[in-house]
Amino acid sequence: MLDCSTLKVNLKRIKSDILTLAEIGQNHEDRGIYRMAFTDADMEGKRWLSDRIEDAGLALSTDGAVNISGTLNGSTDQPRILVGSHIDTVPCAGALDGTLGVVVGLECLRRMHEEKVVPQRTLELIAFSDEEGRFGGMFGSQSVAGKINPERLATMSDLDGVLLGDEMRRHGYDPLAALDAARDPETIANYLELHIEQGPVLDRSHKPIGIVDEITGLFTWSVWLRGEANHAGTTPMDMRNDAFMGLADFAHEVPRILEENGSDRSRATIGKAQILPGAANTVPGLVEFSLDVRDTSEVVLEELSSAFRKALSAIARRRNLMFEFEQKSYLSPVACSAEVVQQLQKQSEQLGLDYHTMPSGAAHDAQIMGSIVPIGMVFVPSKNGQSHSPAEWTAWSDIEAGANVMLQTLAKLSQR
Ligand SMILES: [Zn+2]
Repeated sequence: MLDCSTLKVNLKRIKSDILTLAEIGQNHEDRGIYRMAFTDADMEGKRWLSDRIEDAGLALSTDGAVNISGTLNGSTDQPRILVGSHIDTVPCAGALDGTLGVVVGLECLRRMHEEKVVPQRTLELIAFSDEEGRFGGMFGSQSVAGKINPERLATMSDLDGVLLGDEMRRHGYDPLAALDAARDPETIANYLELHIEQGPVLDRSHKPIGIVDEITGLFTWSVWLRGEANHAGTTPMDMRNDAFMGLADFAHEVPRILEENGSDRSRATIGKAQILPGAANTVPGLVEFSLDVRDTSEVVLEELSSAFRKALSAIARRRNLMFEFEQKSYLSPVACSAEVVQQLQKQSEQLGLDYHTMPSGAAHDAQIMGSIVPIGMVFVPSKNGQSHSPAEWTAWSDIEAGANVMLQTLAKLSQR
């Protein structure tokens, strides 16, 4: 058995794969990539990836959710290790979000295969469908995790009302087959994902590697504060039920609520607000706004939820407003496997790479996979923290470092 500890990725090949895939779906005016799930460009990307998997001598397969896999068979039938991410993009995307994790996973398996390494556990590269959310997000990983049902399949649509089912049929796939993509968690030992950080922490601290210990959960609310619309000139200041002033009070209290009820990993954002009726000479009668709250602990999220509710009720009372809210989404936080985290740390140290152990503030396929199997995630720095834009970039040297950590970790985890 060959000693894998000296095995390194081929950066030239990673570069070429990233730059070639970046041309698929690229708009030459704004330089952005438009490879949204199940568009023609996305399908072309899937075909390109399938060809690379076959060129590498890996076993190509596609499941019912059109997740693309490349498999390097192990010498035993012990549960396999999955490594992957996604190649679909948001509109006007950069070249690395998702794609990097898929290309790196492919390179790791390709390197092992060309060095004739036979792992004990089967290694499988997987590129998940619609992570970015044209049809809601994480469709591929949710299918694998068994979280899709026929009703959702029949109703999932994009912002233009195009049904996922129709798009899948247009490309020759039966949407109901996505139900067959569900895997038995007993057949999977780990899911690993390398991803760009999409935030400023690693870039600012000049560390090439981020090792994720927890992925944040979140809840989002729509909130309504209802007062009374009235004439801006004839209504004295002390006789108003000004809905906007309620929002202003609340916004001001957000940092205090996080300090008192949150953790240093808590985030809260009012990203969208509408003042109605929306006239310069009218006291606002209604504000509708969004609240996005994140933390890595379910208990903290619970406490924040109750603190925000109390604060809004108190403000509504004080300002003579009515308060209502509706929870729009909830995603549980997921802890990464302590064993995988330790292995990633150990391999980074052995490669002489400085790393930072950190939470992931963004949701990834790993979060969904983490609900059924132990997971691990590696981050590489995003220049200026930029992502979801053509400005998204990571230094090639950091990409090489992250890829080598992934290769060594896969080699180690597959030999148990
Ligand atoms: Zn992504």
